[in-house]
Amino acid sequence: MTQPILITGGTGFIGSHTALVLAQAGVPIVILDNLCNSSPKVLDRLARLGVTPLEFVQADIRDAQALDDLFARHAFEGVVHFAGLKAVGESVAQPLRYLDNNVSGTLSLLQAMERAQVRRVVFSSSATVYGDPAVVPIAESAPLTATNPYGRSKLMCEDALRELHSADPRWRIAILRYFNPVGAHESGLLGEAPNGIPNNLMPYITQVALGQRDALQIFGNDYATPDGTGVRDYLHVMDLAQGHLAALKALGASDTPQLLTVNLGTGQGVSVQQMVDTFAHVNGVPIAHRVVARRPGDVAQCLADPSLAKALLNWQTELGLERMCADAWRWQSMNPQGFDTPL
Ligand code: NAD
Ligand code: UDP
Repeated sequence: MTQPILITGGTGFIGSHTALVLAQAGVPIVILDNLCNSSPKVLDRLARLGVTPLEFVQADIRDAQALDDLFARHAFEGVVHFAGLKAVGESVAQPLRYLDNNVSGTLSLLQAMERAQVRRVVFSSSATVYGDPAVVPIAESAPLTATNPYGRSKLMCEDALRELHSADPRWRIAILRYFNPVGAHESGLLGEAPNGIPNNLMPYITQVALGQRDALQIFGNDYATPDGTGVRDYLHVMDLAQGHLAALKALGASDTPQLLTVNLGTGQGVSVQQMVDTFAHVNGVPIAHRVVARRPGDVAQCLADPSLAKALLNWQTELGLERMCADAWRWQSMNPQGFDTPL
């Protein structure tokens, strides 16, 4: 790839790691983000990792003029579209904000791409589109459903992308359904820095390890799983980032279907208790925890069948649970104040 790739949401957790992977693979990149859930200091960290010079545009994907200006300045080869809001609970309280940001935002981006005749896009979808799966591991052909406005927004974007491809097969589209991304770059310079109390398991664990929170609440130990706690498919964010490079390459290949929908996961189930125990063992830091009631809306198990990603993208995960725990802890312990930590 010699023309640049636009990364929307590129200062966020997954976007920043993907920016690094693409840049290190020699792909020129431009990042666009409105910084509503990320820090501009991510750009300094990327520079320290050798991603320099790097063009950053602070703009909203709903700002058509800003997009047109950007597309006029660069002949983008494609777009990796991460920009979106992702907190499930917040989406229940603020459905219109979520639908506007995620759905209107994606339509605005696709319209700008159409105007600029850039018709290659990799979209961040989520395993949430499978709802409470009847069968695990989950294949891409499983029924789709939305259980909250966040999930609805992902499903609506997926539908829009499918409609677009059937209307105009010149579009090359990869819909990537992520399972549970965790971990951080091994340098400890990039990682996940949630605002306020973390919703997700791994950042909560790392904040307990740091002493910023007293104890992890384990949401239920009466699920139909081997130890009763919820089972998920955690994958290392660097493996996930590699999945985007693989998707971009596949979209350029003549022998690959040009509307790809694939799960990105490991296929391995890990329970909350196993995660706590592995983190404590690998890092030598005990994680205080207590079992509380189930979290409303949680499912017992969510696991990918990753075989289609292997077949279509030649991608599979390389990094195991111990590495996820070690890298997450290196990031958090080096950066107790997230990206505001002076290094
Ligand atoms: P993140 O919040 O760290 O990154 C998203 C980035 O998008 C942020 O930097 C934010 O400032 C930016 N953004 C949001 N709305 C924008 C807008 N209207 N215009 C411009 N920028 C905007 O989240 P993440 O974990 O890196 O997730 C990236 C994508 O992957 C999201 O679309 C998310 O829904 C999806 N996803 C994430 C997970 C996960 O567990 N992290 C799982 C499945 C899917
Ligand atoms: N979880 C937990 N305590 C927390 C956060 C999460 O026990 O503070 C559990 C949650 O019930 C689920 C698993 O950890 O079984 C993963 O939750 P997360 O929110 O990270 O991902 P998701 O629910 O979206 O798969």
